[in-house]
Amino acid sequence: MRKIGLIGGMSFESSAVYYRMINEAVRARLGGLHSAEVMLHSIDFQTIVDMQKAGRWDDAAQHLSNVARGLEAAGADCVLICTNTMHLIADAVQASISVPLINIIDETAASLNAAGIKRPLLLATRYTMEHGFYGDRMAHHGIEMMVPNADGRTLAHDIIFNELCAGKVIDSSREALMRVIETAKEKGADAVILGCTEICLILDPAALPLPGFDSTALHADAAVSFALEGVAAQVRSAA
Ligand code: GLU
Repeated sequence: MRKIGLIGGMSFESSAVYYRMINEAVRARLGGLHSAEVMLHSIDFQTIVDMQKAGRWDDAAQHLSNVARGLEAAGADCVLICTNTMHLIADAVQASISVPLINIIDETAASLNAAGIKRPLLLATRYTMEHGFYGDRMAHHGIEMMVPNADGRTLAHDIIFNELCAGKVIDSSREALMRVIETAKEKGADAVILGCTEICLILDPAALPLPGFDSTALHADAAVSFALEGVAAQVRSAA
């Protein structure tokens, strides 16, 4: 089994979800008490939040590249940045290591394309919805996204940082996000991207008015497929 390197802590609430999903998927695929070979470097999120607010993306790239190099040196066969937002600097992190960086945008796009989705709504942080890196990469995969209006973007951003990353899941916020999704549906959205790794804590992708695509689950699943390439078949034939 290949070793999975996680750059986590952004926030630790979602890193815990990754850890559980990855291990549950390995146990489900290999059976018995199999679990994943995972290395998690969980960083202090406040340092990254401060860099985000100040637009210090180069400093953030350097910081996450150092962490990625550490994971590679420790034996990771792949690296995941466990946040959509910090994929803003994913290319710099990939350039700093020689093992593959499994990109959350590419994995989400592949799943949308496989389902024939044409016009998904993105729910994410303000950086992800407004900075362009996410939409550009989706467009490269042939997907034209929608984002909420300014009020909807503020709502999603504030729920992510003030509530979900702080460990709070509030019913009225869930209802407000559902209203944003309903509005997007009326405007022609055909799916919802849970494009922040904490949104799965408040929205169940299977209980939305549109098909839901959870970036956390898709990213974790891609890591497991990479880690188990060729392994599941060996385990089955040995059984
Ligand atoms: N985990 C979130 C994301 O997927 C937000 C935290 C961050 O700003 O990195 O974008």
